[in-house]
Amino acid sequence: MWGPGRGLLGAALAAVSTNAYVTRAEPIKDPASATDKQKIADLVARAKKVLADGKIVAQTAPRQAHVRVDPGEETRARAILDRYYTISAEAVAANVTTTASNKESKPQPSKKKKPRTPPSSIFEDFDTTAISGPCCKRYVICGGGTAAWAAIESMLEIDPSVAKDILLITDEEHYPYNRTVLSKELWDDDKKELFRSEQASKDAVEYAYKAQPQGKVSIIRGKRVSFLDVDEKRLTLSDSSSLHYDKLLLATGGSPKSPGYISAALASPDLAENVSVFRTLEDYKRLQQGLKKKDLGAVVIGGGFLGTELAIALASTSQKVSLVVAEAGVLYKVLPRYVCEYLARRLSEVGVNVIRSAIVTGASKKPGTADVVTLDIVSPDADHVEGNKIIVAVGIDPDVSLAMDADLEVDDRLGGIRVNDFMMVEPDVFAAGDVASFHDRGLGRRRVEHWDHAVVSGRIAGKNMMGQKARYGLQSMFWSDLTNIGVSFTAVGLVDSTLETLAVWNLSSAPVNGAPSANSYTSGVVYFVKNFEIVGAVLWNPKKGSGSLRRARALISAKTSVSGLSQNTLAGLVNLEESSHRTTIRTNTK
Ligand SMILES: Cc1cc2nc3c(=O)[nH]c(=O)nc-3n(C[C@H](O)[C@H](O)[C@H](O)COP(=O)(O)OP(=O)(O)OC[C@H]3O[C@@H](n4cnc5c(N)ncnc54)[C@H](O)[C@@H]3O)c2cc1C
Repeated sequence: MWGPGRGLLGAALAAVSTNAYVTRAEPIKDPASATDKQKIADLVARAKKVLADGKIVAQTAPRQAHVRVDPGEETRARAILDRYYTISAEAVAANVTTTASNKESKPQPSKKKKPRTPPSSIFEDFDTTAISGPCCKRYVICGGGTAAWAAIESMLEIDPSVAKDILLITDEEHYPYNRTVLSKELWDDDKKELFRSEQASKDAVEYAYKAQPQGKVSIIRGKRVSFLDVDEKRLTLSDSSSLHYDKLLLATGGSPKSPGYISAALASPDLAENVSVFRTLEDYKRLQQGLKKKDLGAVVIGGGFLGTELAIALASTSQKVSLVVAEAGVLYKVLPRYVCEYLARRLSEVGVNVIRSAIVTGASKKPGTADVVTLDIVSPDADHVEGNKIIVAVGIDPDVSLAMDADLEVDDRLGGIRVNDFMMVEPDVFAAGDVASFHDRGLGRRRVEHWDHAVVSGRIAGKNMMGQKARYGLQSMFWSDLTNIGVSFTAVGLVDSTLETLAVWNLSSAPVNGAPSANSYTSGVVYFVKNFEIVGAVLWNPKKGSGSLRRARALISAKTSVSGLSQNTLAGLVNLEESSHRTTIRTNTK
């Protein structure tokens, strides 16, 4: 947990974990500062809330405690305790008494991080008012997200002096940053310090570079490219200035979808304060500030990765959270139905009120309140839900407006700008990241909205803009961390719930009448199958260092057939750890 170098606050919180968090749940004396004091008080309050019905049985050793928790509260208590303590397997099985030993006592590897160059030393602001006559940079990148940053990194790796020839244009005020932490780590009191935006490290929100480039990359922030003329090789910006390029990368990502009732709510002065989408660092800051002011509950709409992660993250801050999903469970578009239902149950256990098969029909201010919004819904579970923060996470539309203006080819079926496996739209125009519909030589045409794909495709585009001939070959991966319910998975290839699946699960206890009991999928692999061949895989709580991701990639590349394979062989293909309780589950197309 708290490793070396986390500072005074880290030390103070660790002390709470050991002495008070579980055994007495009282603040330690003399916290380091007023902020620390507040944080410690919050932490202890949370622990008390979770363990309200629990009773300390005994403290058997300085770093070990026996905690008696009401059976109904066991999962919630475990989720929080698990962040600080190693919980023994026997105790979990007994389901009443939990033996916890402090994780901090484990030896911590001392990782020395190489200093990185912060974005303020990589980029310099470019003044568009100073443009006169034909301008401008050899390499222009439109969009300032992960794909754009990956392209810049790969270009600097080829030639550190290329920095002065690159111009990045982004409509956000920030330097390129990592969105994935906005729904996970930034809600975790223990981790968010690591992701402060002013840090220059691998863990910072804003990307930092591993070396000092020669010269600086130009950046225009807070302005949108409003028009693209590919014949003239010219871009027009929202302030009407225009720029020329030699090579252009379109890395415009996507904009959150906004169904009709949401657009109406966002446009209504009465509701706009309470209803929001969630995509940017500013969205995160607004939501966090808004929740701090009033704790009247949050409603997340959308059971995809973002909605699910966000609901769990908000529940961990003691918010009352409802998750409204259109399907029968969460992550329904990617996982087999029984896993979606299992996850929905686990979410309920950590305090998320999951409203399934729900269609939202309208949003209005609750009469007689200043700050509460009522969502009308049609669902077997409820006819309305209330909260003072409504967060809409129902997917994105790839941002193809520039490509459409310029008559570049847009994919009718998948959305996105069509590129080949060089990420090339036409000789001097490239596209990468969420916005690209690309040719995957193994799996056919795809559009992928994941971080690793943004990195892989951005790097390929960057290299090819500089004259290399790099092709999209590696299967990009994606992951989701639902750590508060003890689930973390990594996936690769075609992960689509409409496909057939074949899964091997390790269970925490023996199946009852052939079916796994609740809360028992400890680890496993779900293969996604087309014509008997493995086209995708989800690795559920994969063991670190098992090489399972590498193996899964190889299985997809080799078009491995699953027919006739035994349970043990299927498990062994991705090095699934041994277990005495195992089951195989097959599903047909959804
Ligand atoms: C909260 C959150 C959590 C996520 N978690 C995960 C995860 O755990 N795992 C995972 O694999 N993926 C995750 N993702 C998805 C991942 O972050 C995206 O796939 C990735 O950010 C895509 O990068 P991109 O560069 O293609 O697009 P973006 O990051 O969207 O960047 C595009 C940028 O271009 C700007 N732009 C658009 N049009 C213009 C224009 N005309 N002019 C100027 N600028 C423009 C946009 O404002 C934006 O800044 C998450 C996404 C979010 C929002």
